[in-house]
Amino acid sequence: VRWSAEQGWHDAGLRPYEPVTLDPATSVLHYGQAIFEGLKAYRQPDGSISAFRPEANAARFRDSARRLAMPELPDELFLGSLHELIAADGRWVPTRTGDTLYLRPFMISTSVGLGVNAPADEYLYSLIASPAGSYFTGGVKPVSVWLSTEYVRAAPGGTGAAKCAGNYAASFLAQAQAVQEGCDQVVWLDAVERRWVEEMGGMNLFFVYGSGADARVVTPELSGSLLPGITRSSLLRLAADFGHEVEERRISTEEWEKDAASGELTEVFACGTAAVITPVGRVKHAGGEFLVNGGNPGELTMKLREELIGIQEGTRPDPHGWMHPLS
Ligand code: PMP
Repeated sequence: VRWSAEQGWHDAGLRPYEPVTLDPATSVLHYGQAIFEGLKAYRQPDGSISAFRPEANAARFRDSARRLAMPELPDELFLGSLHELIAADGRWVPTRTGDTLYLRPFMISTSVGLGVNAPADEYLYSLIASPAGSYFTGGVKPVSVWLSTEYVRAAPGGTGAAKCAGNYAASFLAQAQAVQEGCDQVVWLDAVERRWVEEMGGMNLFFVYGSGADARVVTPELSGSLLPGITRSSLLRLAADFGHEVEERRISTEEWEKDAASGELTEVFACGTAAVITPVGRVKHAGGEFLVNGGNPGELTMKLREELIGIQEGTRPDPHGWMHPLS
């Protein structure tokens, strides 16, 4: 679908998967007005295909567009594109447990011209899809994380809450540093004090205090510079459904280390569309390192993971109506 100042949204339709040709002076190549979404479709036990909470992705896509001064794609066009793609090319069959169809909607500015003073006046929205295997093969393995104090992903007033290309460009160097430090993933801290936990790579973080029925679930509040994850909001709901106290608040790195050492903090996990839930086992920073739960996956982490995957795969009830049939 294309957008222009004169015509609004127009030219919707299916195209073969092929390279996109752009003029070298196309706005997006220089100024980075590019936003995207990531969601998954699951083959249900009855053979139909359903996506997990695509309405939430459509809403976040509009929020991202607004922050990047791009036109907001109406939800009917966003959701319609998912239906149309599945209707035209629904041949995908999962061959192994955990196989999903990853859907990648995106929008770029396509005006030609090097003037930087105004937003572009032409845009292209597109959707591509790709089969994806299970993130974990051979069991869930806790990840190790590097607390980045040198680099930040997003600052107050910036684009951190939008799913825009530049946020990811800003993260590659810190992610490489995390790997150099022997860790799997980078954890971002706030830009001002470099002390408050924001999120991990492409996932939001959760902290569990206590155990069993009394376990309390905490996640960093939406500070404006972290992405409001759809898995995050779903897990806040599921944890509350399970009867746990849930809280969105600031969490400092000192608190993380101190409470992990005392055993009061019993589990830490990250969540997002790609891996659903990943336990965090080891934490490293410039001053040392520590383990959470002895480096092992926690009980509530695994319970929430099973529940959410069950809802997505259609093997557990979906009390909140999260699954959206696409076929
Ligand atoms: N934070 C960032 C930076 C991400 O890229 C993602 C993945 N979209 C998430 C968090 C998790 O969001 P979601 O649960 O919607 O996939």
